Amino acid sequence: MPFTIESIREHFPVLHQEVHGKPLIYLDNAATTQKPKQVLEALNSYYAHDNANIHRGAHALADRATRKYENTRTMVGSFINAKEEAEIIFTKGTTESINLVASTFGRKFIQKGDEVIISTMEHHSNIVPWQMLCEANGAVLRVIPISNSGEIILEEFEKLLSPKAKLVSIVHASNSLGTINPVKAIINRAHAVGAKVLLDGAQSTSHLEIDVQDLDCDFLAFSAHKLYGPTGLGVLYGKREILEQMPPYQGGGEMIKEVTFAKTTYNEIPFKFEAGTPNIADVIAFGEALNFISGLTKPLIKAHEDSLLAYAVELTSKIKGFIPVGTAKEKVSVLSFNINGMHPFDVGVMLDAKGIAVRTGHHCTQPLMQRFGIEGTVRASFAVYNTKSEVEKFAESVERIAKIKN
Ligand code: PLP
Repeated sequence: MPFTIESIREHFPVLHQEVHGKPLIYLDNAATTQKPKQVLEALNSYYAHDNANIHRGAHALADRATRKYENTRTMVGSFINAKEEAEIIFTKGTTESINLVASTFGRKFIQKGDEVIISTMEHHSNIVPWQMLCEANGAVLRVIPISNSGEIILEEFEKLLSPKAKLVSIVHASNSLGTINPVKAIINRAHAVGAKVLLDGAQSTSHLEIDVQDLDCDFLAFSAHKLYGPTGLGVLYGKREILEQMPPYQGGGEMIKEVTFAKTTYNEIPFKFEAGTPNIADVIAFGEALNFISGLTKPLIKAHEDSLLAYAVELTSKIKGFIPVGTAKEKVSVLSFNINGMHPFDVGVMLDAKGIAVRTGHHCTQPLMQRFGIEGTVRASFAVYNTKSEVEKFAESVERIAKIKN
C-alpha cells in the first residue's frame, strides 16, 4: 500500500485521545467519520481570510469565497463522474436531498395511484419523505422484501414493477447491515418500466467508486460528514433534464432570476435549488475531504476496510453467543451483531468503558429491525484510519462481554 495507517492517523487529531482512561477506538464511522486536519484548517482559514457571501459581491473576498465554493462543486462532479457540475446541488445532507426530490419531483411527477418503490432495508430518511408524499397525493408505497442474509430479492422487486411505478428509491449500501445492493440491475429494470431511480449513497460514497453516468441513476443523495467532511452538508446529484423540469424546493434569494410582485422567474440549475446563503465554509472544507480521499484512492480505501471487516468477522465468528445480523456476500465495512441474552445498548456501554465507540439501537431502520424480529443491533463500522490491532481489541472485548451470558 502506498500509505501507512500511522501516517493516515496523523491527519486525524480526534483519534489521539483517551476515553475512560483507554485509547479511543472509534468504530462508529457509519454514523459519522472523523475529519482530517486539512478539513479543520480549511474551515479556520475560510473564516480567518475569506469570509464573504457568495455569488453577489463586487469585492475580492466575495470573489474568492465564490470561486472556492464553486470549485468544490466541480470536485464533487468529478468525484461521482457527473456529466456537468450544474447537476450538483448542495443541501444539508442525504435527508434533505431525499426530501428535496420528494417535494419537487414527487409533487410534479407522482400522482394519485402511482407507485414509489423502496426496500425493507431503507434508512428512515428514505422511508418517511415517501410516506408523507403518498399521504399527501394518494400515491402508493411498495416495499421490496429482503432475504435472511439481508439482500434484496430481485425477483420480488421485478414483481413490483409496472408502469405505475414512477420512482424507485433505494439505499446503495445499507447502514445497518452493510449490504451493497445490486443497483445497476435495479436501475436497468426500473428504467425498463419508465421509473426513475434515486440512490441513497450516504454509506456507499465513502467506500465505493461512484460513476453516476455508468450507473445511469437519475438521482444520488449523500452526506459530506460520512465522507470525512463537515456535518450539515450534503449533495443531491440529478440528471439535468430532470432537474430542469422540477419546480424549486424553497423560495428565497439566489434561486431567482427576476422577482416582481406579479411573477417570479427562477434561476438556472443548480442555483434554482439553493435558496438563501448556503453553507459556504463547510462546502469549501468539503473540497479538502475530497482531496484527502482522492489522494488515497477509493480502491485502496476499500481494500483496507474489506480486510478489517474480514478480520473482524473471522475473530468474532469464534465467540460463543455472537449473532451476526446481515451476512450478504457484497458488503461495505459494517459489522452488525447481537450477543445472545444481552441488550445491544448494554453491550455498547460496556464497549465504551473500554474506549471502544460503536453504535447501538435500530440505526434509523426500524422496519428492518422488525423484519429480523429484533429491537436493534450493536454496529461496528470501519474507516480508512482503523487498524488490525483495533479490530483485535474490539473482538477481545466483545468476547469478554459475551462470556457474561454465554
Ligand atoms: N441514509 C443512510 C443509509 C444513512 O446511513 C444515513 C445516515 O446515517 C442517512 C440516510 C441520513 O443521512 P444524514 O443524517 O446525513 O442526512
